[in-house]
Amino acid sequence: MRPIYLDYHATTPLEERVWEAMMPYWREKFGNPASRGHYYGWEAQAAVELAREQVAASLNSTPESIIFTSGATEANNLAIKGVAAAYHAQGRHLVTVQTEHRAVLDTCRYLESLGFSVTYLPVQADGLLDVELLRQSLRPETILVSVMAANNEIGVLQPLAEIGAICRERGILLHTDAAQAAGKIPLDVQALPIDLLSLTAHKIGGPRGVGALFVRRDTPRVQLVPQLHGGAQEQGWRAGTLAVPLLVGLATALTLTLAEQEVEQARLLALRTDLWQELQKLDDVLLNGAWSPRLAGNLNVTFPGVNGAELHQHLQPVMAVSSGSACSTGQPSHVLQALGRSVQAAASSVRFGLGRGTTAGEIQQVVNHFQEILPLLRQKSYIRT
Ligand SMILES: *Cc1c(COP(=O)(O)O)cnc(C)c1O
Repeated sequence: MRPIYLDYHATTPLEERVWEAMMPYWREKFGNPASRGHYYGWEAQAAVELAREQVAASLNSTPESIIFTSGATEANNLAIKGVAAAYHAQGRHLVTVQTEHRAVLDTCRYLESLGFSVTYLPVQADGLLDVELLRQSLRPETILVSVMAANNEIGVLQPLAEIGAICRERGILLHTDAAQAAGKIPLDVQALPIDLLSLTAHKIGGPRGVGALFVRRDTPRVQLVPQLHGGAQEQGWRAGTLAVPLLVGLATALTLTLAEQEVEQARLLALRTDLWQELQKLDDVLLNGAWSPRLAGNLNVTFPGVNGAELHQHLQPVMAVSSGSACSTGQPSHVLQALGRSVQAAASSVRFGLGRGTTAGEIQQVVNHFQEILPLLRQKSYIRT
């Protein structure tokens, strides 16, 4: 028996229906959408345009504001570096948050090496950004604010409407990394003052290696300097032959996730609530991040006083979970530390990521396992200290 998969924030299995939608585009309909002179190219181009419409519709935006990328990492890079390069004459200051994904943090660090200055805002103990603190951090030379929609470790949802309103007042662009949020919570760029938004397919049952960046093209009409050169694809914003099967997979995964959003998120919320209620019965457990607003499929718990390495070693045979983000494995979670947890407490934490395959039976097995191992692990650490 393979362990129970509870790492849906790291990646998700490809949905059967997504797989089927992608299939024809690997072999039969293999054309290059940039081949404008023949049938094979037109066929591929039609698939790309449909995919673009579907991705646009999922955000209530328009097809010309969607740039396909290789995933959220590339979308974040394009948004942040692209805006920095296009607006540097207006200012060289950016604002982001300490709990962002490394694809944002490392990109900002790189810009610092080019002479930009970046403010990394702390979060409150519940993981949420204090919008007043954000307001105070803005300077006349601030060109971009980047705040994620949903956190990949603790699932909390940042107040994008309020953040966006503050940015709008000051004429500052707002980017959001919505890799964990897209498809799972409503994201309407007509209603929300978001100027750039990154998303990815593999967090919602789509294929790995494809994502998109929404770039507002009405008001404001956002400018970007491309970060990949070599062809006129994607209106010149991102060169490279389009991966048609992957784009079809992205669009299908988004469309399906959205159609099932309410029902599936309610199901996950019920499972997560059960899991937390049962874990609390084990005493001395701490929730990381606000209970609400939070992704339905996320639970992050610290087991104080338990040795982190031992805890995870005992979990491995039964369940696939992590102590932090898959992208920073080996290091204590910078997100949990930003909430004020010690390095030790961060290591003794478990991120549960529930998803489409998760069942009530699995949650019960997980709970049973914790009931079995926690008293033993606690006894061990008690003896040692
Ligand atoms: C997974 C993830 C990414 C990276 O996405 P890729 O498509 O794997 O590059 C970026 N940001 C967040 C919040 C994520 O969860």
